[in-house]
Amino acid sequence: MFTQKQLNTFKATETPFYFYDIDVLNKTLEAIKKAAPKEYHIHYALKANPHPTLLQLIKQAGLGADCVSGNEVKRAVESAFASDKIVFAGVGKSDKEINYALNHSIFCFNVESIQELQIINQLASNKNTKARIALRINPNVDAYTHKYITTGLEENKFGINPYEFDAVLDELKKLNNLEFIGLHFHIGSQINDLTPFKNLCTRVNEINKWFINKGFLLQHINVGGGLGINYKEPDTQSVVDFENYFNVFKQFLALKPQQQVHFELGRAITGQCGSLISRVLYIKHGITTNFAILDAGMTELIRPALYQAYHKIENISASEVKSLVKYDVVGPICESSDCFGKAVELPETNRGDLIAIRSAGAYGEVMSSLYNLRDKLNSVFI
Ligand SMILES: *Cc1c(COP(=O)(O)O)cnc(C)c1O
Repeated sequence: MFTQKQLNTFKATETPFYFYDIDVLNKTLEAIKKAAPKEYHIHYALKANPHPTLLQLIKQAGLGADCVSGNEVKRAVESAFASDKIVFAGVGKSDKEINYALNHSIFCFNVESIQELQIINQLASNKNTKARIALRINPNVDAYTHKYITTGLEENKFGINPYEFDAVLDELKKLNNLEFIGLHFHIGSQINDLTPFKNLCTRVNEINKWFINKGFLLQHINVGGGLGINYKEPDTQSVVDFENYFNVFKQFLALKPQQQVHFELGRAITGQCGSLISRVLYIKHGITTNFAILDAGMTELIRPALYQAYHKIENISASEVKSLVKYDVVGPICESSDCFGKAVELPETNRGDLIAIRSAGAYGEVMSSLYNLRDKLNSVFI
């Protein structure tokens, strides 16, 4: 639902563009503050949307930064996130990226393999410094989400598997430029049922106990992100139920008093504040279906093409309630997967109507591409 002021701005802006509702973001950040126990550390996963305007508000709300590339670490540093609130994960960190993060003394590297431990140790040694590291562990917990955004199963490339733990501890003894401070987990994304998080807690407790028994009481336990949003109801559920989410961890994580809990939320923070605003170029009547052809496509929002993701599509030009017609809502790109929704019921739609594709604040604009030599995207913040 958009205000008249927002609609007037949309009419006067060249399409397609991303629109960010700052009010929704602020309400989300307030809800997190209210729901999270004081001792929980919340990091924002920059990869969901690294817009400096959004990052300022997120930083001011007291959140840290979770990065998965050197340039994201750079963005976090440039956005003035405190270096002791920046964590860096990823299966393939390059030497250049590691060196950059070492130069800025980030809080922690979440390390995903034995070889990576050796390389970070070597690079830290070259700089005569120590790197704080957490082991990213593959907990083999099913997130029951789309297979492309499941990350915590044995078959996934992420993390260190339990059968390697002894070898890792042997290796760590030799690596004097590493400070082993924590365990890290991240099981996937767009997880709406809380059961996988409960299962994660059970695994974290077992794994934590294993390390304690080996003499490693680690101060930092990072349970990752992955909390989903309601793509069907962007207006009535614009803010995620963080209370229920944090309650799972309060209830099921069994940690020692000196252990601190970290979270890395992306989608749940910026997902609902963004919409892709587009205009209808043409209506085409096919043999079995009508097509509404937009001036935005998979180059602006790839989630439907990549993950068969659902986004609510609204005709925001239709003021009076007209009869509903079914459209395949498609983009202009030369790919048949360039489709935002099939048989979408919209009020009778015409060339020039404005279309909003909702809940596109996370993994939307940041995944846009220049394929077909598309124009660079604009964004509007209200
Ligand atoms: C992507 C990612 C996140 C954030 O995931 P969301 O589903 O957006 O909350 C957190 N941690 C790591 C390591 C990630 O790769």
